[in-house]
Amino acid sequence: MTGGPATGLAGPLRVVRDGSGVDVPAAERAVAALLRALGRDPAAPHLAETPRRVAEAYAELLTGRPFALTTFPNDGGYDEMVVATGIPVASLCEHHLLPFTGVASVGHLPGERILGLSKLARVLDHFARDLQVQERLTQQVADWLRDHLAPRGVGVVIAAEHQCTSLRGIRAAASRTVTSALHGLLREDVRSRQEFLALTGTAA
Ligand code: ZN
Repeated sequence: MTGGPATGLAGPLRVVRDGSGVDVPAAERAVAALLRALGRDPAAPHLAETPRRVAEAYAELLTGRPFALTTFPNDGGYDEMVVATGIPVASLCEHHLLPFTGVASVGHLPGERILGLSKLARVLDHFARDLQVQERLTQQVADWLRDHLAPRGVGVVIAAEHQCTSLRGIRAAASRTVTSALHGLLREDVRSRQEFLALTGTAA
């Protein structure tokens, strides 16, 4: 699910996940069975289209969209931290099949190649279209950027609200979960790490 092999850092890198594995007709039948198990009648007029809609929604949410990762030579030798904040994240919790949504910040210390900033959202979206836990999603994005961009350091912070928490139990709607994954200088160098965490508003 990490896409195709790296083709080197020089050219555009096509990122494609091999098939989503979603069998939409089987999912429709399963949703109808779930409705029956929940004491609802999937044949009722107001529910008749629900199995199809649910199956299509999950298929979309679980299918990564291919994208081309374009990197540029770091001709200017830019060596300061680049941080993108407020990147929207939406994924599905693998424990409850309910959404978790929030924002991500991605920072890196450029190496020899730099990345179009708009592409960071595509990388996040690629890994978010799966059954996930927030910790793994955070780690996958950081690992992928480390492996494909070869920056001197990279950090990912995700702050998200989980509907399995906010809609259930004590309905702690305001609670957010914050996860981070750091590599290279952002992990090892105290000043870089503190700069990144300060820029993303997650410093202690
Ligand atoms: Zn959950």
